[in-house]
Amino acid sequence: MHHFSDRDGILHAEDIPLPTIAEAVGTPCYVYSTATLTRHYHAFANAFANLGATVCYAMKANGNRAVLRLLTELGAGVDVVSGGELALALAAGAPAERIVFSGVGKTEGELEAALRAGVHQINVESEPELDALDAVARRLGLRAPIAIRVNPDVDAATHAKITTGRAENKFGIEWTSARRVFRRAVTLEGIAVKGIALHIGSQILDLAPFEVAFRKIRDLVALLRADGVTVERLDLGGGLGVVYHDHHDVPPDPAAYAGIVRRTLGDLGCALTIEPGRAIAGNAGVLLSRVIYRKAGITRTFVIVDAAMNDLIRPAMYDSHHHIRPVTVPPPGTDTTPMDVVGPVCESGDTFARDHPLPVSLAAGDLVAFMTAGAYCAVMAGQYNGRPLVPEVLVDGDRFHVVRRRPTVAEMAALEDLPPWMTGTGE
Ligand SMILES: *Cc1c(COP(=O)(O)O)cnc(C)c1O
Repeated sequence: MHHFSDRDGILHAEDIPLPTIAEAVGTPCYVYSTATLTRHYHAFANAFANLGATVCYAMKANGNRAVLRLLTELGAGVDVVSGGELALALAAGAPAERIVFSGVGKTEGELEAALRAGVHQINVESEPELDALDAVARRLGLRAPIAIRVNPDVDAATHAKITTGRAENKFGIEWTSARRVFRRAVTLEGIAVKGIALHIGSQILDLAPFEVAFRKIRDLVALLRADGVTVERLDLGGGLGVVYHDHHDVPPDPAAYAGIVRRTLGDLGCALTIEPGRAIAGNAGVLLSRVIYRKAGITRTFVIVDAAMNDLIRPAMYDSHHHIRPVTVPPPGTDTTPMDVVGPVCESGDTFARDHPLPVSLAAGDLVAFMTAGAYCAVMAGQYNGRPLVPEVLVDGDRFHVVRRRPTVAEMAALEDLPPWMTGTGE
């Protein structure tokens, strides 16, 4: 459920007509809904309330400071995956004791920053990282609170680029080595082993793989406890999917997911963490764009919009689909026709959808909305083709604010510098 709906034939974000934002901010821009983010956070928090779980929002899905501030004020912790995200989360006001640091390639500098900040937990993904963290912590005179991320080797039945829990993926410690690594970790002076972490993938629509993974974790807890390893925390990762194909996919229900957690892991006496990202932010955002041209080819009709793959890379990167709709609902009885929706970037891959049904009346100047663009969209934007980073707008009821503005081309150029032997050219 989200708070983007038609009123008087015009798509609104909460109480704001999207054309109002397009006028004020220009297109393309991302528009996020406070009510939707809040609703999704509560869906998880409520489903897990009597399991005492902490919801650590995975900020890599949408790291805008206003989004982070909103969620952390509601009570969320944050899952970060780099030193940059750690600093941004702290700057947004996230309490260090609710931050979990994940990621397969944390540098010593990043590990030190996390220890100095006093994060709740560092999820260690390899033995070399374990040793590096041990050394950093001893140098600082600290013990690093860790979970060891294990790879349960289950197939999450999602796109290959977002599955993370198979033996061939780069993430986590192999299932068959887990017990040995835990036994060694507890002997390290700079390490305080707290528990187990896992994350099997993203955009998972079928809950069954979670159940398989959690049962394996349950067995591992028993083995580790028999080895004398204290397991007091379980971090279950994120991964719940959202609806991208209008009327097709059925999103998993956080309450059903919590039910699986309760059945499989609820009686182990462990503090639980979950790390939803996409399920909180995904359908809390749309990408608002304007049609530049409609171009009739011999075999196809192209709609060239002002958003491009640099603003929204998911279709080019994962073959993913975003439902695209006109912001103004066409009059009843208007036919639709299949159109290819493309951006202006000089790449054939800059294609958002092929044969997407759109009203025959769709014309240059019309606004369209790419739905379910709140997660893994603005965060992945780039400046390819000299296109400024796309701005972000947060709506709350009948007010909105630009929470990340569009940089000027001068600002884009300011990071570049000519070598001294070229100065004079063109100045
Ligand atoms: C990406 C990621 C998440 C969030 O995944 P979603 O599919 O967005 O819920 C959670 N935990 C870890 C370790 C991740 O890498």
